[in-house]
Amino acid sequence: TQFSDLGLAEPVLRALKHEGYDVPTPIQAQAIPSLLEGKDLLGIAQTGTGKTAAFALPILDRLFKSNSRTPAKSCRVLVLAPTRELAAQIGDSFRAYGRFMNTTVAVVVGGVSHGPQIKAITPGVDVLVATPGRLLDHIDAGKLKLSNVEVIVLDEADHMLDLGFLPPIKRVIKMLPRSRQNLFFSATMPSQIGQLAGDMLSNPVKVSV
Ligand code: AMP
Repeated sequence: TQFSDLGLAEPVLRALKHEGYDVPTPIQAQAIPSLLEGKDLLGIAQTGTGKTAAFALPILDRLFKSNSRTPAKSCRVLVLAPTRELAAQIGDSFRAYGRFMNTTVAVVVGGVSHGPQIKAITPGVDVLVATPGRLLDHIDAGKLKLSNVEVIVLDEADHMLDLGFLPPIKRVIKMLPRSRQNLFFSATMPSQIGQLAGDMLSNPVKVSV
């Protein structure tokens, strides 16, 4: 399989060429076609498999093909990650793969000041990558609403559970619109994670690498 066979938009393919990616990794080849159709996904994958691009590329394709604008104080894509480092990496990946588009990306994590994050989300941001605690801080402060989320990605769900993020994640999910695309990634499937996936996903495509 070549990236050009997957149906991705031209600016996304151009960014892949720019990155020097020749062929999709197995998770990319298996996940991208279904994600482009708008399906939910359960991905059992470790870091290093190319899972970030597996979700970022079809999401950027969707943003490129739609002409709606993200309203103020909201986002259209929400990516939840367990750590600041992972959130920053995911944000960098969206920026790299979206370099030939005008997509906006913000990263919202703890341990740094609120001001610049609020400045980034106030006009509305297409892709918001966040750790759960700081995300809820902004929501509780009235700086962000989740009523325009079209796609939610939960990355490293098992790691989130280990860090005690299950209650905040459940709070976040309750605030999302009913109609949305759900992407769920975990390296392992302990029972609480299997249950969360079952609650969140509808008719998911399952990919295990
Ligand atoms: P991830 O599993 O998302 O952390 O990605 C692992 C590494 O693989 C990252 O450094 C990516 O830049 C790189 N990568 C992802 N997809 C590809 C690909 N199709 N070809 C070459 N490198 C890739």
